[in-house]
Amino acid sequence: MKPVIALVGRPNVGKSTLFNRLTGTRDAIVADYAGLTRDRHYGDARQGRHEFIAIDTGGFEPDCTSGIFQEMARQTRQAVAEADAVIFVVDVRAGLSAQDHDIARFLRTANKRVLLAANKAEGMKDGPQLAEFYELGIGEPHPISSAHGQGIRSLIEAALDDL
Ligand code: GDP
Ligand code: MG
Repeated sequence: MKPVIALVGRPNVGKSTLFNRLTGTRDAIVADYAGLTRDRHYGDARQGRHEFIAIDTGGFEPDCTSGIFQEMARQTRQAVAEADAVIFVVDVRAGLSAQDHDIARFLRTANKRVLLAANKAEGMKDGPQLAEFYELGIGEPHPISSAHGQGIRSLIEAALDDL
């Protein structure tokens, strides 16, 4: 079985952009992976020698009636439960938000390997913008740019190390 990496985070941080970059598709290949539920977005992904399955979250069924926040929380919980490692995506340009703290609180109790990806970091020097994300208690933020393909290889290597 390939390892599974879930991409979680509040809306608009760049999860789907990262997913598309990892899977090399604009729209995910949705396949029947045994034991995985169907309403999230699964794709075959490859980075260097690593092959894995990526799960995007935050897609909403048009007939979703439970409300956007409950639906997000539900998708996040389910994706995390299915994953071997979790990439928690935050937006380094927007800075920390209350929703980031909520997600971090959940992830700290989830007993999974969690990597913190500070997205939209293209053209940024290491330093002040990254430092505030240590507050989330998830560890070191990995600066990446999903749009420009920067920092992604080392993020995935850290996520899959020894898995
Ligand atoms: P999601 O809601 O978390 O899935 O976020 P999306 O992938 O839909 O991206 C939200 C917005 O952020 C879009 O306008 C993207 O083009 C933009 N975005 C995503 N990744 C990057 C990045 O690395 N740098 C910049 N500057 N913008 C990005
Ligand atoms: Mg998305």
